[in-house]
Amino acid sequence: MKKTILTVLCCFISLSARADVNHYFSTIKQDPNALDAFLKAMPKGGELHYHLAGGAYPEVMLGLAATKPYCLNTATYSVTSGKNCTATGLATNDALYERYLQAWSLKNFIATTENNAEDHFFAAFYKFNPIVSDHSAELLANVLKRADSQHEQYMEIQVTPDNARSASFATLLKDKKTNAEKLSTLQKSKAFNDNVQRTATNGRNILTQAHALLGCDKNPQALGCGVTVRFQYYILRQLPPDAVFAMAVNAFAVTEASPDFVGINLVQQEDVPAALKPYKQQMQMLDFLHQHYSTVHISLHAGELSPTSVAPEDLQFHIHDAITVGHAERIGHGVDIAYEDNAEALVKMMAQQNIAVEVNLTSNDWLLNVKGAAHPLHYYLHHQVPVVLSTDDEGILRTDLTREYARGVMEQNLDYPQLKRITRNTIKYSFLPPDEKARLQQQLDEKLKQFEAKYVG
Ligand SMILES: [Zn+2]
Repeated sequence: MKKTILTVLCCFISLSARADVNHYFSTIKQDPNALDAFLKAMPKGGELHYHLAGGAYPEVMLGLAATKPYCLNTATYSVTSGKNCTATGLATNDALYERYLQAWSLKNFIATTENNAEDHFFAAFYKFNPIVSDHSAELLANVLKRADSQHEQYMEIQVTPDNARSASFATLLKDKKTNAEKLSTLQKSKAFNDNVQRTATNGRNILTQAHALLGCDKNPQALGCGVTVRFQYYILRQLPPDAVFAMAVNAFAVTEASPDFVGINLVQQEDVPAALKPYKQQMQMLDFLHQHYSTVHISLHAGELSPTSVAPEDLQFHIHDAITVGHAERIGHGVDIAYEDNAEALVKMMAQQNIAVEVNLTSNDWLLNVKGAAHPLHYYLHHQVPVVLSTDDEGILRTDLTREYARGVMEQNLDYPQLKRITRNTIKYSFLPPDEKARLQQQLDEKLKQFEAKYVG
């Protein structure tokens, strides 16, 4: 009898807690300011789609540019390492500083026929790349502080800590005909194996240095220290086939060897000929390598396409093939889903196989001009496909995870239970090993309980 009363009491309390946070949410969901404050404080699990190179705000990179000799090209706004140059002029020239911010991000961006947002976005990476290569640890420390301040626990970050040197091993593959020959050539090459090792070591160093910069040794409670980080090694999809192959082998090998790496990805603009033409061939490469490295997780940028950006034939199969041929366990973007062949069957398969979609609302608005009702977020949700929200490149896009959630509410009308499910999905569909995943899931549920308790009564 006593037990029954306790059970009823327990469930009544937990129901009323949920009702109260839901009630509060319903009163503020149309107020962008109150909503932002609420969402910033909400535990958000983490980010599963994050590029370190695009995550740093240009303000942070320009600050770093001033600490080491860099040559700034004031015509192209690109930066190169150089002993005889100095970037200090930026500190005293506000107008120039502002032009750099605009060149390195979408700040105040206005499209022209010669320069659309997508071109401006992808061009930015080449302008500041030397700073990303030289200062990955500083950038990571900055990113972790921002994540922690928004109550994130986990980040899966896309990097190439060998500065994509793996691509240069394409030269070893010139006369090799089959994938099997190519793979064994790389596996037998000492220089290539050294590069895999260097990737792992550099990755570890970036993490260690970032934690040192945050002061985590002396104070584990310091901002940024509580965020668990894992890497994905990314492959540049626009490179020639042998370079893609070499990068892919490096990706699989380092992920198998290093606990800091949990998966691989395929990046770069998807809607240009250099990425469209070899798409099927690249999926077959991944299929081949997956047989050799079957424990390595795969997430793929796929379907970052819109009906106006490519011909109809190119809209029909990218997500499908990423899953069925490329063995993707998660899909990055997945914007063109409705235009794929047999879209209904495809989303049903995704739901059945628990293939999560990493949705990047601000990115899709800027780069693909897809937003509001045209965005497939609700199409996925309706078919029970697991969804997460992420920023993609928060520094260039000038967003953060809180604002992605806010966009999800204001533009996509997500309710609190949907946000909560999305938050829980970020840990559930992470590539963390099972024991660590369970620990973070438990931690997240505890944090959500505490957060919701604030709205009781
Ligand atoms: Zn991305």
